[in-house]
Amino acid sequence: NRPLAAVDPEIARAIELELGRQRDTLELIASENAASRAVMEAQGSVLTNKYAEGYPGRRYYGGCQFVDIAEELAINRAKELFGAEHVNVQPHSGAQANMAVYFALLEPGDTILGMNLAHGGHLTHGSPLNMSGKYFRVAFYGVEKDTGLINYEKVFAAAFEHKPKIIVAGASAYPRAIDFYKFKEIAEEVGAYLMVDMAHIAGLVAAGEHMNPVPYADVVTTTTHKTLRGPRGGMILCRAKYAPTIDKAVFPGIQGGPLMHVIAAKAVALKEAQQPEFKEYQRQIVKNARALARFLMDRGFELVSGGTDNHLMLVDLRNKGVTGREAEAILDSVGVTVNKNAIPYDPQPPAVSSGIRIGTPAVTTRGLKEADMETVAEIIHLALSFRDNPDKLNRVREMVAGLCRRYPLY
Ligand code: PLP
Repeated sequence: NRPLAAVDPEIARAIELELGRQRDTLELIASENAASRAVMEAQGSVLTNKYAEGYPGRRYYGGCQFVDIAEELAINRAKELFGAEHVNVQPHSGAQANMAVYFALLEPGDTILGMNLAHGGHLTHGSPLNMSGKYFRVAFYGVEKDTGLINYEKVFAAAFEHKPKIIVAGASAYPRAIDFYKFKEIAEEVGAYLMVDMAHIAGLVAAGEHMNPVPYADVVTTTTHKTLRGPRGGMILCRAKYAPTIDKAVFPGIQGGPLMHVIAAKAVALKEAQQPEFKEYQRQIVKNARALARFLMDRGFELVSGGTDNHLMLVDLRNKGVTGREAEAILDSVGVTVNKNAIPYDPQPPAVSSGIRIGTPAVTTRGLKEADMETVAEIIHLALSFRDNPDKLNRVREMVAGLCRRYPLY
């Protein structure tokens, strides 16, 4: 059993380089974070060796008594943290969690009403490129052109018109709070299931920094690796009455053996999320996002909806004469990682797009506070304003390096 560097130096090198990148750059991708050593230890453990098809206490393989401990801990911690009646921790990813819910509750040809991808929704909420858009009929709601906000009356109108079997609330690029109670009222009114995909905001929800959808939705899906800061993976929370259907949809419906090492790491992350420091961390994510939004607006940046309530903001770059694609590349070149993102009603195609999405979860994990957000805003401002000036860009690189040194990672 030789170490990785001896067995596969090329992969060891790639990992080392990636560690260096994470240490030496500012991670502002809203869906990313830096998992703890404890989470990674569980994820890199011998649990990867174990087949455990089925659920704790009723497996299709022998020798599951210890992985059962891990899965039960993950389930119970998630139930407690979010106040859920039932939790399935086996989905390999957020997309898998959503697919399992559709498989559980819908028949091919039923209608999904989801948020428009171009307005901040996710591919799995009915995009024609995704299984959700290929096997089901889809209808969309979006945000208002002038405010950037969801108009709940229009959601109701769309639900009334299309009579969906399921309404999906939740987004990948919506900077404002979502009112799950209003969604519940709409779903009840039209007799639809309500599914909330809280992937982006799960950490905020766990800490009470965003309205919890669990009391209002029939089913809630999430990823575990975004604000929740766990291993890459998915999870489904639901009412007890849906438990058998949801469990059967995950396994044997769409998955085989669960990733027990990842489930153990989910349990660790959920334990971390129960600690008071985690609440403080989530509060700081939101404070940092508000501060960064303000400092960016002070520098003439326009934000969709004029700000943020959560961990992310969408910058509309049209007044800066730069596209999202260009901005992503310029910022990358100075050590700041963001992703280009369509703004609602974007005149540019998605591969170009007029905006960037910026989130504070990862830099908040490193320890950056509100005052540092002014430096981050200045870095973004200088890099985009002086994109053709190598001296200025070098100065910006030094600013990034200074922040990274001050807040070391791993
Ligand atoms: N749901 C939402 C709202 C997301 O933002 C994402 C990922 O970006 C997903 C689901 C999919 O998660 P995964 O990438 O783990 O499949």
